[in-house]
Amino acid sequence: MSPVILWFRQDLRLSDHPALNAAAARGAVIPLFILDDETPGPWRWGGASRWWLHHSLVSLGKKLPLVLRRGRADAVLRDVLKQSGASALHFTRDYTPWSGPLEQRIKVLCDELGIDCHRHGGFLLHEPEAIRNGQGEPYKVYTPFSRACFASGEPRLPKPAPKVEWATPGLASDKLESWRLLPTRPNWATGFEAAWQPGEQGAQAALQRFLEAGLADYAEGRDRPDKPFTSRLSPHLHWGEISPHQIWAATRAAAAHAGGRLDGGAEKFLKEILWREFSYHLLHHWPEFPAKSFRPEFEAFPWANDEAALRRWQQGKTGYPIVDAGLRELWATGTMHNRVRMIVASFLIKHLQLDWREGQHWFWDTLVDADLAANSASWQWVAGCGADAAPYYRIFNPILQGVKFDPEGAYVKRWVPELRSIAAEHIHTPWEMPVPPAAYPAPMVDHAKARARAMAAFQSIKGIAG
Ligand SMILES: Cc1cc2nc3c(=O)[nH]c(=O)nc-3n(C[C@H](O)[C@H](O)[C@H](O)COP(=O)(O)OP(=O)(O)OC[C@H]3O[C@@H](n4cnc5c(N)ncnc54)[C@H](O)[C@@H]3O)c2cc1C
Repeated sequence: MSPVILWFRQDLRLSDHPALNAAAARGAVIPLFILDDETPGPWRWGGASRWWLHHSLVSLGKKLPLVLRRGRADAVLRDVLKQSGASALHFTRDYTPWSGPLEQRIKVLCDELGIDCHRHGGFLLHEPEAIRNGQGEPYKVYTPFSRACFASGEPRLPKPAPKVEWATPGLASDKLESWRLLPTRPNWATGFEAAWQPGEQGAQAALQRFLEAGLADYAEGRDRPDKPFTSRLSPHLHWGEISPHQIWAATRAAAAHAGGRLDGGAEKFLKEILWREFSYHLLHHWPEFPAKSFRPEFEAFPWANDEAALRRWQQGKTGYPIVDAGLRELWATGTMHNRVRMIVASFLIKHLQLDWREGQHWFWDTLVDADLAANSASWQWVAGCGADAAPYYRIFNPILQGVKFDPEGAYVKRWVPELRSIAAEHIHTPWEMPVPPAAYPAPMVDHAKARARAMAAFQSIKGIAG
């Protein structure tokens, strides 16, 4: 019997994998991964994503004989389909704007070659077409969207990894090292190794750790960057090393086992998983979302063009400790706590009046969980220009945010060594000390003045202030 191809994409796991289950049921499976830097155009994987991808492929490659190819996905598939004599192609659906047309081209190619083509779900709990409002339209607001998800019933239960007969009939594979996904000089990823364990095993370990040590405190503690109460599952979810179904079912089971003690945390956590679904719902229905403000009136905003300010922000040298801690955490580990992502994004957009897309692109390059849907939706949310976004006049005060969410300054001290000896009462306002620390910069803008300037700029745009 001729083999079938499983084209791995952002589904780098073996358990609860609908496409793999279907492929394995038909016979021998050729596992293929394609590095396609052409089709996504400006959204080719950024540096931190490439670091993750390298290690995730190493992890997967220990369990099966991966065939690695580089090039435009449809062109590579044409070659591999012909060379392998495969009778069918199975893959998991992707929701990026370029993937719909790509998947269409692949279907046409398979029809031309007389090969069965099967597209599967598995990346999301709810396909974006499945959740509609009373008028049959997609949702633009999160709360009714999440209610509709809950009302649609519990997601299916996850399935274990199938028994698979792997095959690579005479197919050549690239050497992973030849893709040069890891940084060389300078190696900015030295801190990533200690922070992460890419791959399916690492994803399951992160889930277990969270259920045992984070979930109980999640509802109250998820906003505290100085505490380890969030799951850190986002890069694993992004690369499909774990399915949202596995997370959902395990969270429900942990809550049931705890007899009500974890209900608050579980409810809050599952709602965050639905924020991920909502981001994909928006991306699917409004494919211009990553590049354009959802509210078109924001396109007239007078963004500043200030390279030097952008650089100071990127380097974590703004002079506001919580902002700088977040940006330095990002550079050192490829992640940043969600609360701090909101603070640094607000600072870029409102205090510096830099275009939200500048921040979005920086995150795209530096986050290990850089995700077109979540990143674009979140930046637009902070800017106030997105669907169901924060109002434009919500301008985070970086001092008060620091005091509230990092009261002892433990998070700031971890990432900003210049401030390690400062007492907690001054940690978020070091410039007010009788002798400010010489090694740490003074604030690059005055908060009150920047706030007033931002309000005036927003109110000058017709349609924004309502
Ligand atoms: C400006 C900005 C940019 C962001 N960019 C990304 C990004 O590129 N990729 C990304 O995965 N998340 C992004 N987020 C959302 C959020 O910050 C991260 O998902 C979260 O910090 C990941 O940590 P965690 O896994 O410990 O989250 P947890 O609190 O444990 O949440 C569990 C999961 O829910 C999902 N989730 C949580 N919050 C959100 C959210 N607001 N939007 C969508 N999904 C969410 C994630 O998959 C996350 O892993 C961004 C947020 C902001 C404010």
